[in-house]
Amino acid sequence: MYGDGTRCVHGGETEPASGEPFMPGPVFAAPYHLGGSDRLGDSDFYGRSGNPTWRALETAIGDLDGGQCLLLPSGMAAIGTLLRAVLHAGDVLVLPTDGYYATREFVRIELSELHLEVREVPTAGPFPDGVFDGARLVLLETPSNPGLDVCDIAALAERAHAAGALVAVDNTTATPLGQRPLELGADAVLASDTKALCGHSDLLLGHVSVRDEDLARRLVRVRTLSGAIPAPFETWLAHRSMATLDLRLARQAENAAALAEALSGHRAVSGVRWPGMPSDPAHEVAGRQMRRWGGVLRFELRDAEAVRRLVSRSRLVSGATSFGGVHSTVDRRAQWGDPVPEGFVRFSAGCEDTEDLVADVLAALD
Ligand SMILES: *Cc1c(COP(=O)(O)O)cnc(C)c1O
Repeated sequence: MYGDGTRCVHGGETEPASGEPFMPGPVFAAPYHLGGSDRLGDSDFYGRSGNPTWRALETAIGDLDGGQCLLLPSGMAAIGTLLRAVLHAGDVLVLPTDGYYATREFVRIELSELHLEVREVPTAGPFPDGVFDGARLVLLETPSNPGLDVCDIAALAERAHAAGALVAVDNTTATPLGQRPLELGADAVLASDTKALCGHSDLLLGHVSVRDEDLARRLVRVRTLSGAIPAPFETWLAHRSMATLDLRLARQAENAAALAEALSGHRAVSGVRWPGMPSDPAHEVAGRQMRRWGGVLRFELRDAEAVRRLVSRSRLVSGATSFGGVHSTVDRRAQWGDPVPEGFVRFSAGCEDTEDLVADVLAALD
């Protein structure tokens, strides 16, 4: 088995051919030629059902996830597609209280007609006895966004399976290089590839990977019938971006480690959390199930004004939501209604030089 960098560069590639590019260009087609006039065999016939540019990236990501990958136009499309494929009216759904806010909104507003019983549990637990009883689906998010709490995927999957539930993991903050939930027992892994996988803050994309053939077929059906399909050019850009994922994550994690350390001792900063830090409450569990650390950390400043000052005085860090890009960014999560203090910062470490970034942030805080 090749290492992460090799798999990122070569994943989903076609056989080398003289005079052809390393990566074939995006295939733009609404309909495809049918040859004669009737459809023959399994070839593509209409762009909503299949596209070779999707399949190349699905091969690459599926190889990293260890499952069959289904590409979707955004992380929310991945979540929506999975929930629509799995849930029936009256089902029990277990969600994190502290995960990505739009997931809870989607369930509360868009799935209200299913009259689900939603049980919300914090990512750090505890998961009370019986919480999975009668559940159809347990959705975990680890490390959670924005709090970076961690749960034990293998232990929870075992408990959920014993209760007859399926387990899905939102793997956005970890990426397929940081964590392989299918290998830890999850039935589905999904992610917003808008974040680190694409990594240049310029496109939206998502995916779901599964091992069960029947679940894969149901997911494809929801994608095809709902029309929530990725565009070929975005898909091609994502595949191009993925080649450097290993390199970008390495620098981002190095920067996050240096910042977590520098900020932990700073008098204007409290509550620094980064799962890679040995003193972090999530470090032990994360270390058991994660393959590498990510570039996102969190901390608190006194108030909203202090966060605004940090961003305006910094020369390298911008205020922006989202995370995982090559630029370092700060997001004050309370502005979006996350249940966190006013001065709570989710910091996405970019690919700047570590020395430059740490010096810039410390200067902006002083
Ligand atoms: C951003 C995010 C999503 C949604 O992804 P989009 O690509 O913005 O639709 C879902 N889950 C997590 C954990 C996220 O951070």
